[in-house]
Amino acid sequence: MNTEGVVTIRAGREKPVRQGHPWVFSGAIARAQNAAPGAVVTVVAYDGTFLGRGYWNPKSQIQVRLLTWREEVVNEDWWRQTLRRAVAARLYQAEVNGGCRLVNAENDFLPGLIVDRYADYLVLQALTLHIDQQKEMLAQLLVEILDDAGLPVRGVYERSDVDVRAKEGLKPSVGLLWGEEPPARVAFCAAGLTRLADIRAGHKTGYYLDQLVNHRLLAATLASSLPSARVLNLFSYSGGFGLAVDGPIVNVDVSREALSLASDTYAANSRPQPENVQADAFQFLRDAEARCERFDAIVCDPPKFAHTQQQAERAARGYKDLNLRCFRLLNPGGYLMTFSCSGAISADLFQKIAFGALVDSGRQAQILQQLGPGGDHPVALTFPEGAYLKGLLLRVY
Ligand code: SAH
Repeated sequence: MNTEGVVTIRAGREKPVRQGHPWVFSGAIARAQNAAPGAVVTVVAYDGTFLGRGYWNPKSQIQVRLLTWREEVVNEDWWRQTLRRAVAARLYQAEVNGGCRLVNAENDFLPGLIVDRYADYLVLQALTLHIDQQKEMLAQLLVEILDDAGLPVRGVYERSDVDVRAKEGLKPSVGLLWGEEPPARVAFCAAGLTRLADIRAGHKTGYYLDQLVNHRLLAATLASSLPSARVLNLFSYSGGFGLAVDGPIVNVDVSREALSLASDTYAANSRPQPENVQADAFQFLRDAEARCERFDAIVCDPPKFAHTQQQAERAARGYKDLNLRCFRLLNPGGYLMTFSCSGAISADLFQKIAFGALVDSGRQAQILQQLGPGGDHPVALTFPEGAYLKGLLLRVY
């Protein structure tokens, strides 16, 4: 790999790099010498002091993403070691759960790379030019590493159909990278239940693995206090939140494919079918209110409302409206599990939004737990941008 390029940081702008932030924006760069698009470069301070190594893309606003802060060569061996470390950290979970995130990009000090495992299949997302250039090699290394760990891989599928690639000058790319093409639905087991991932066309890499931990928490909370609770699962996707719950479930999602995945998942677990409602969640809530419907627990897990900081205010209004309507539909003593996956809405702000909605609803609520993704989705302490998913488990009176 080419490590000849040198990127020099502007005088006085090197502090974030020194402190371990993985991004260098174009405005912080004084010059790039001998650098090729996508190639590894050495990053130096204005006085020439070594800061780290990363990869360069002149087309991206984030011109350099740091891979290491040490004077080491970034070659195939480096990738093997770094990937091995990320996989090793999940080994226990990967053995227990058939579905698990193995590589969480910047948060695993591997910027631009997401790898999820669903049973015998891996799904790779290449979010940046360098990762795109290396993806075949990365797929090969991952297969080797998992094989060594006793978790043989049948196929590695690429799902690089995400908008952020455009910012790197890349088009979407989807297809088989290695081995066998996965079936339309890959069954994997998590917490003793069968889940179905639509690897080839589903959301994200086929499943919301980040929410598995919260699926379990909901089931455990209800089992211990409200076992026959009637649950409204808003923005249900494949119905993961209701799967382990004993009481009746209403899944609401706009997507017909998502609800058909939910039906198949319940059938695969020999569970009674939930009520699957294909509807806009906001409209559903208005109609349910008009019908005076009530629920014992509501899960509200909407898609990202704010894609940029500029959209945060509008998103906040959306979250407030949703949560207000959820409060109104809950029986006293019921639970609300509410989320935001907008990076631009901090956990603190999200809690304030929930508070605002509560005040307007005239109800009372207690925070039982502040929520985030499972441990296979770590957030690097140097990279607060990684903390996109936040939520609250509330008891509502
Ligand atoms: N809770 C799910 C993940 C939800 S992702 C899980 O744990 O697996 C968000 C979901 O919201 C997607 O399935 C998407 O189809 C759905 N969605 C997006 N906009 C919607 C709307 N206005 N009304 C209802 N569902 C919507």
